[in-house]
Amino acid sequence: MHTSGWYGIFSSTNEKPRVTWALLKRVFRYSDPYRWHIIGMLLIILVNTAMGLLTPLIFRTLIDQTIPQKQTSQLVLLAGALLLIPTISGLLNVGQRRLNSWVGEGVIFDLRVALYARLQRMSLRFFTNTKIGELMSRLNNDVVGAQNAISNTLVGIVMNLIQGAATLVVMLSLEWRLTLISVLIMPVLIVAARSMAARLREIARQAMDVNAQMNAMMNETLNISGALLVKLFGHSNLEVQRFEARAAHVRQVGIRRAVTGASFFVLIGLVGSIGTALVYGLGGYMVIQEMFTIGTIVAFGAYLSGLYGALQGLANAPAEFATSVVSFERVFEVLDLEPDIQDPAEPIRLERVRGQISFEGVWFKYPEGRRGLLQEVYRPNVPELVIEELPIESAIALPLPAEEPRNQAREYALEDINLVIEPKQLVALVGPSGAGKTTLTYLMLRLYDPTRGVVNLDGHDLRSLSRKDLTNAIGMVTQETNLFHDTIRTNLLYARLDATQEEIEDACRAANIHDFISELPDGYDTVVGERGYRLSGGEKQRLSIARVILKNPRILVLDEATSSLDSESEALIQDALKRVMHQRTSIVIAHRLSTILAADLILVIDRGRVVEQGTHAELLELNGLYASLYHTQFRRSG
Ligand code: ATP
Repeated sequence: MHTSGWYGIFSSTNEKPRVTWALLKRVFRYSDPYRWHIIGMLLIILVNTAMGLLTPLIFRTLIDQTIPQKQTSQLVLLAGALLLIPTISGLLNVGQRRLNSWVGEGVIFDLRVALYARLQRMSLRFFTNTKIGELMSRLNNDVVGAQNAISNTLVGIVMNLIQGAATLVVMLSLEWRLTLISVLIMPVLIVAARSMAARLREIARQAMDVNAQMNAMMNETLNISGALLVKLFGHSNLEVQRFEARAAHVRQVGIRRAVTGASFFVLIGLVGSIGTALVYGLGGYMVIQEMFTIGTIVAFGAYLSGLYGALQGLANAPAEFATSVVSFERVFEVLDLEPDIQDPAEPIRLERVRGQISFEGVWFKYPEGRRGLLQEVYRPNVPELVIEELPIESAIALPLPAEEPRNQAREYALEDINLVIEPKQLVALVGPSGAGKTTLTYLMLRLYDPTRGVVNLDGHDLRSLSRKDLTNAIGMVTQETNLFHDTIRTNLLYARLDATQEEIEDACRAANIHDFISELPDGYDTVVGERGYRLSGGEKQRLSIARVILKNPRILVLDEATSSLDSESEALIQDALKRVMHQRTSIVIAHRLSTILAADLILVIDRGRVVEQGTHAELLELNGLYASLYHTQFRRSG
């Protein structure tokens, strides 16, 4: 399985963590709320270290004094102490783990909530340009990696420092010559530990990478639309093969990780054994020469493992800490994203919305480039609109309108839009696919800001209003109805959290869906959505109409469904829509002749411009694009 792609995965992960002082300060700010927990942990570490140092001294006393001098009462006392010390130390360890996990899980919680809150503020552009699977990995894996910096690495460094220093002091005070012998091996131990740990970390990073790739593929192919696509093209076997390749990478890295991990421990153990051999060999010789006692050498043997353990931990600590800090950096990258669409500092409050919308010289180009997106999470293959860099002046000179539907590719999705939609008007947007109808509605909802020009609601620039006021004023019914996996009632309440059951039912009656819901076994408590009850297309549409009725916005934007439904379902929807549009400003991306005929104003959009406007009769008279659309499409749609 050693293909070039396999190595390619590895080479992309060779990031060198750069730990700056400013970054460290920011990281440590996250430990602030847990100050007392960390102090508690350090106290426990101190007590435990002291007790750990006692045990070898007890061995020494037993061997050199108690046993040879046959002091039975002291023997009982010391044997009791040998049981008591691990008991207390064990209990304290449990306490320390508890504090540690409190800090670790606490930091994970803080980071996760902060990340999620930031992502919720991002604009639609961010989500269309970002691979959600990879974003998930920041929410799931990086926060865990990051907290490691505080709850494990930091505490580990302090613990090893205390343990190492204290052990060394006790050893020196016992027998300085033997101490010198035992630290001889130290440089070898540190070099070995560092190089092995670096390899282990590298493999761990590869493991995260290949896992992320496997997960991304599962995400893409096992959700409903992905699964449907695979089935429609009959590519199940191909997908299994592709999955197998990714899973094989995971297996490969898993095995390498296990083998390298085991070799690491063997190597460290071996280096440690050199120290032990030296202590017993040279030390034993010194005992024979009666330079010190047997008990001292046994106690030294016990101290050695503690000392080497601490040194080994300290040797790895800087690199481990740096790795965790990289995770922090990846989390900070998301936290520092500037949302494209922001509330103004002092928004104009809308008391009563009349429902007038106007566009003044609006040009709009979908933003290019990566500003405001994540570097690694950016999806590079997103189809780009740019054909060539046309200056705006030459764009104006484009010939308009054409009789045949023309290629809609262009630099600006909307060009020089000037229009006024009066309160309570019903406006139909028509035009060829790709003309810019959806984009026009997106600007009304401020999902994007115009590149040039102004969109106004009741004469106020949308950018001067709060998003809350704007979303209250405008409701949108999209083509695809998105329902959360929850009860019908909860889905409806999403429009207005404080609606009463009576209001919900009224809205459903107006949307011609109440009778249907009442006949379901669980009524309004029926769970719908991804894994719930499957509603038909028409039912979903009526539910979304009920949702918008409940919200009761002054302005309604409707993307009329293109799929045709049976005439009964169609009649129910048209009837419901008539009610919801009544007394509101309505802007409809129209696909139904009945809607177009009912419209006060029809805006014909082509290549990002309003090329014709008027009523049905006026536009037919013009015999332009509308007339041709009417004859080719609408007349048949009834
Ligand atoms: P349809 O009736 O097929 O839905 P439409 O008239 O609603 O078409 P829009 O969706 O507004 O057309 O698209 C207008 C143009 O903007 C198209 O050329 C489209 O390719 C482009 N476009 C749409 N969304 C994006 C995006 N996120 N990034 C870049 N270009 C986009």
